[in-house]
Amino acid sequence: MKKVSALLFTFLFFLSLFGLFGCAGQSREPKDLLARIKFRNKIIVGIKNDSKPFGYVEDGELKGFDIDIAKSISKSLLGDDKGELIEFVVVTPESRISDLNSGYVDIVIATMSISAKRNHIIDFTNPYYVAGQALMVKEGSKINSIQSLNTRRAGIILGTTGEKTIRQLAPNATVVAKKNYNEAFNLLKEDRVDAILADDSILYGFIMNNEGYKILPARYTKEFYAIALRQGEENKELKDALNKILNNMQQTGKLNRIKEKWIPNLHKGA
Ligand code: GLU
Repeated sequence: MKKVSALLFTFLFFLSLFGLFGCAGQSREPKDLLARIKFRNKIIVGIKNDSKPFGYVEDGELKGFDIDIAKSISKSLLGDDKGELIEFVVVTPESRISDLNSGYVDIVIATMSISAKRNHIIDFTNPYYVAGQALMVKEGSKINSIQSLNTRRAGIILGTTGEKTIRQLAPNATVVAKKNYNEAFNLLKEDRVDAILADDSILYGFIMNNEGYKILPARYTKEFYAIALRQGEENKELKDALNKILNNMQQTGKLNRIKEKWIPNLHKGA
């Protein structure tokens, strides 16, 4: 009997030790996301790789407006001068909300517009850029407005705000939806659609690289790009910190310099 209780005691002793250290191990990671980012000395950012000049790959490197925003944030939060403490994770318009809400990424900086629908499930900082939805067509195209797409074919990108606009403004258009911008652009290139509806800021990237295309002058929406976060108390400190950083970038002219670097000619007749 003595032997059994000694064994039991030893077992319970080790169990409690394991429990103690086990819990201690878990609780070392703070719950608050800003504290967690600082604790692990790394920020995980959802970014796009097909949306020049906001997020794209050149010479094997991620570049663009959104990447520069991420670098400024990492510098402010972690003193990260070279952007080495950012883990970039490629997201798509379709995946980014679940990537965020599943905890796969800390924040999303991916040409993402604030919308009433998205506000139900995620949170946003203040906007850092305003784009507008527009149509891209081939030079010489007869399409001159979104309404003229009612009897034609429109290309859009799944998971973007363009889905709603095309349904509202050209409900009878034949809509061809693609998962990414390059596939949508190929539709236009191969005359499988008559126009692409997307943010002017991203269409601009295709105009820069390809002859024979144009963006029509009309803008059908205002797209307020903001950094997306998860909802809830644990993300509040981070949201406040990000808003402060964006505000500071605005005040110091840093945001304008990034704009000028990546989209110098967007509003000059691109
Ligand atoms: N800004 C639009 C949106 O949030 C489209 C751009 C994108 O592909 O992310 O849906």
